Amino acid sequence: MGKLKSKYAIVTGGGKGIGESIVNRFLKDGIAGIAVLEYDLNMAKEMISRLDNSGAKVLLIQCDVSNEKQVEIAVSQAMEHFGTIDILVNNAGITQDSMFHKMSEEAWDAVINVNLKGAYYLCKHVIPIMRNKAIGKIVNISSISAFGNVGQANYATSKAGLIGFSKTLAKEGGPKNIIVNCVAPGYIETDMYKTVPKEIMDEHIKNTPLGRLGKPNEIASVVSFLSSDDASFLSGQCIIVSGAATT
Ligand code: NDP
Repeated sequence: MGKLKSKYAIVTGGGKGIGESIVNRFLKDGIAGIAVLEYDLNMAKEMISRLDNSGAKVLLIQCDVSNEKQVEIAVSQAMEHFGTIDILVNNAGITQDSMFHKMSEEAWDAVINVNLKGAYYLCKHVIPIMRNKAIGKIVNISSISAFGNVGQANYATSKAGLIGFSKTLAKEGGPKNIIVNCVAPGYIETDMYKTVPKEIMDEHIKNTPLGRLGKPNEIASVVSFLSSDDASFLSGQCIIVSGAATT
């Protein structure tokens, strides 16, 4: 059977793009149950039909990760159905790009609240469950923008924050067998990358030694590995998956 056999997971923003690929990869790798937290309920309803035949318990929960009450309810629902949570993937993310001198406080707060505080809320409610069982895997989806990118001061800050957050949780969680890592993708072919102006995208592809954008499944395979027992001594790392590109 698959390497995620008997495991139960929560994946945020799992309705499309990289998150959807992670959900599909987890199912392919034999996960026992997966709770997909999705902002848009219609997206979640669409997923029900697509995932119905997987054999795993699939739970679709409408949840805005920047709202602590909704996160608390979603984690409780996952616990009611699964009885445990072995894997947490903080994937939900947004961009609101502009040069910093033109960036509104609303744009700053919106991006920090979803990308960084959302991960904080999920970890706040899931880590006690993992500590009780003395086992757990957390993967936070960062970005190569974490290392600085023009027009993305809010996004870069949120994604850099996730790296420090992950490394710290790895140190604190180690004695309780909680393994925490980050994945920092380069540009990946999803709806999110479509918001990037063409000239910036062309420049990025030119500066990517592999000469192309990444695909969502190329991130999902790394997330699945980090979530599995194959990664039992790999913790506190930020794995850059970018075709060797930097920002
Ligand atoms: P998409 O825009 O395709 O998907 C983002 C997902 O996050 C959607 O399912 C969306 O739900 C969900 N989401 C957004 N806001 C919230 C919220 N408040 N609560 C719950 N879910 C929410 O993006 P990608 O798949 O490209 O991105 C996935 C992750 O990968 C993000 O963290 C992103 O920053 C990161 N990343 C992406 C890169 C890329 O080039 N694509 C590069 C580097 C990192 P809904 O559709 O319902 O709003």
